[in-house]
Amino acid sequence: MYPKSLEELITSLTQLPSLGPKSAERIALYLLDKPHKIEQLIKAIKNLEKIGYCVQCNSFTEGKLCAICENPQRDKHKICVVEEPHQVALLERSGIFKGLYYVLHGSIAPLEGKNPQDLKVTKLIKRIKEDHIKEVILATNQEFTLHYMIKLLKNFKVKVSCLAKGIPVGGNIEYVDELTLKEAFKGRQEV
Ligand SMILES: [Zn+2]
Repeated sequence: MYPKSLEELITSLTQLPSLGPKSAERIALYLLDKPHKIEQLIKAIKNLEKIGYCVQCNSFTEGKLCAICENPQRDKHKICVVEEPHQVALLERSGIFKGLYYVLHGSIAPLEGKNPQDLKVTKLIKRIKEDHIKEVILATNQEFTLHYMIKLLKNFKVKVSCLAKGIPVGGNIEYVDELTLKEAFKGRQEV
């Protein structure tokens, strides 16, 4: 229906999450009409190449350390463990936590072939041993991951806490509203 290049753009956009053919068509036509937006978008996408992972917490960063790890105001004695880097942003938006983070880059799901050895825990253990960490908060309700992490951390002299009720078992912290997340965080219990 459209010239080949426009059809190709619509097809590419359709492959993005949450974009159906109609939205993809609307965006493609919008961009065709606004050449300066195309430049902006290309630049922003190209800049994604700068993103890597923090050497300390595995979260997103453009430098060696992420802004949170580099911030002297953060409570360096508390670490909040999350499954994926975008969950750091989620907790930061809620403003509930002023400590540091650690990203596992995954969760344990035996049926999907995801095993404990797939989690990146080495640097977390090193930090617990060397950085005088007083509390590790496990911000996951994915049961296999949670049980594995509790068992692992019990080997070290550190307080381990889990989020309070409110987050469905097996559920992810991103599936609850901000207030529920705050309450679950505030009411966290030592295990
Ligand atoms: Zn970091």
